Formats: sequence, C-alpha cells, structure tokens
Amino acid sequence: MKIIDMRSDTVTKPTDEMRKAAAEAIVGDDVFGDDPTVIELEEYAADLLGMEKALYVSSGTQGNLISILAQTNTGDEVLLEEQSHIYLYEAGGMSALGGTIPKTYKSDRGYISPENIRSLIREDNVHFAKSSLFCIENTHNKHGGAVLSPDQIKEMASTAREFDLKVHLDGARIFNACTALNVDIKEYTQHVDSIQLCLSKGLSAPIGSLVAGSKEFIYIARRKRKMLGGGMRQVGIIAAPGLIALRHMRDRLKFDHENAKYLEQGLIQHGLEVFPVETNILVCNVSRYFENATQAVSSLKEHGILISPFGNTLVRFTTHREIEREDIERTISVIQENWK
Ligand SMILES: *Cc1c(COP(=O)(O)O)cnc(C)c1O
Repeated sequence: MKIIDMRSDTVTKPTDEMRKAAAEAIVGDDVFGDDPTVIELEEYAADLLGMEKALYVSSGTQGNLISILAQTNTGDEVLLEEQSHIYLYEAGGMSALGGTIPKTYKSDRGYISPENIRSLIREDNVHFAKSSLFCIENTHNKHGGAVLSPDQIKEMASTAREFDLKVHLDGARIFNACTALNVDIKEYTQHVDSIQLCLSKGLSAPIGSLVAGSKEFIYIARRKRKMLGGGMRQVGIIAAPGLIALRHMRDRLKFDHENAKYLEQGLIQHGLEVFPVETNILVCNVSRYFENATQAVSSLKEHGILISPFGNTLVRFTTHREIEREDIERTISVIQENWK
C-alpha cells in the first residue's frame, strides 16, 4: 500500500528529468563564479522575478538569514509576524548569528494594517534599538497557507518604507500565492527589497532556495552566504534540477490546491474545524475527536497516512506532486471510519 506522505511538500522527490539534468549538468566552481548552470539559474530567476539579481542558496532558512544579515546591523530590530517561520522555526539565527532582535506583530492571516505597523516602529531615540527590517510571509505556513494579495503587500511595504525600513518577503511558497490569485510574481516582488523562495517544496527540486533583490543587495548577500559556509563548488549538480523546478513545476501547483480543497470538504463534512484552505496547506483542529494532535497523527499513521502535528490540537496536511486525488479520497474515508 502506498504511504500517503502529507507531512510537508518538502518530501517531494526529484523527477526523472531532474535526476537526468543533475547528471548531465555543466559545472564549474561557483565560489569563483564560473558554474554555468548556477549562472543560468540565477539569471533566469532574476528575470522571472523582475529583480536585478538572484542568488542560489542552500535552504530557505539560509536565504532568510542572509537577507536579514545583508540588510541590518547588530542591535537592530526586525519586525516579524508572531507565527512566522523566521521567528518560530529558524533556530534563532537572526539573533545568534545576526545580533538582531525580533519584534513580533499580530496579524490577520499574515496581514497587518498600516496603523498597526506605524505603532510598532520605534522613533529615532538614543534609548531604542533601530527598527530596520520589516518581514512578511506569503503564503503563511502557520495560518494554513494563507495568501496575501499584491495590494496588501504593497500597503504593508509602503507603510514600513515611510520609516526607511527595508522589506523582506519570505516567499518560501510564493508561487502558491501566485497560483491561488492568478497573478505574476512581479506583482509581489516590485514592492519588496528582498525575497526568499524555496525550490525544494511544491516545486519538487531536491535542494535549494533563491534570494533576489538589487545588485547591491546581492553583492552583500553573496559575502554573507560565504560567511555562513554556503559558498559551494560544483553547484550546477543541484542547480540544474532547480532550474527545471522553476521553469516547469509552477504550472502544476493548481492541482495541489484543488486536492487540498477537496480534502477540506471531506473534513468539514466529518464535523472538523478547518482553517480556510487557499493553497496546498490544510490546518485542522482535531479536538472534536482527540485530546491532542499527536493522537490524531498516530491514528492516521496506522493506516499509512502521514501528517504533521501543528500545535496542541492542530494538525497540518500538505498536498504536493506525489499526492493524487485517490490518495485524498482514501484519507477522507480513513478519517470517516476511524475518527469517532
Ligand atoms: C520551509 C520554509 C522556510 C525554510 O525553508 P528550509 O529550506 O526548510 O530551510 C522558510 N519560510 C517558510 C514560510 C517556510 O515554509
């Protein structure tokens, strides 16, 4: 029986085409800047994103950290959504390695109003840490794959800019947002100074993320990447699948969204409370049938269905390339038969 692994979209394995591209990639030494496949990926990405330059990095965590290090000084304050990935799941790197302090903000599924942004930012005063970077997450993982529109990002970013803050977009799943609203990624990137996006999630590449922004930003980012031990050599081997991910895997994200929607209907019919599904993530409250999330996770595991605990009584299902409609149907029937 197939194991239905919905713990994350990061579990997607490289396609045959990706493995072949990796095997055949023309490579050089990327620290010397002469790996042709990496150059092709970075140029393709910069063009697709409408930003001056892009940089290939080892992970989303590294991409976010590099973006913070490149746009702050030690002692600066970074504004982060209170359930953002950078704040919750990146091992405190912004403080441990960047010497910055987080200030978290509450949001409505990732959105914060201009008035609330203004009240967060500290005035220029010798007592205060300098607020210097405002971070946005889209789609928002902890809020169940919630999507911010380009207009919302424009409003949030322009408010932060009134105070000379830089704006970083953690767009690990930005193409899921683009797919959900049917907008070009440039509609988002035009409003921010830097973006991080993951090739290794729904886009199915085995490894890697991209950071993009101005020429000056990427110049500094490249040095920060080296400092973090992220200067790698014949990187074309892993960049080649990344190029396929970026070129060919965006169009199919819509199927993941349809499957998540379908699952949502099944769970609601079974009386479960589900965060509104907008993309490929479904967060569900299991308190109606279980005392805690771990029990719900174990009950599905017995039937070969893997999901993630996501808080006291919350669990997360993530759809991706290796999850088909029949897998969703099986999941719904297992839940209907066993969650009582
Ligand atoms: C996965 C994720 C990251 C980090 O990516 P890794 O490649 O796992 O380090 C950052 N932000 C968000 C919103 C994510 O979902």
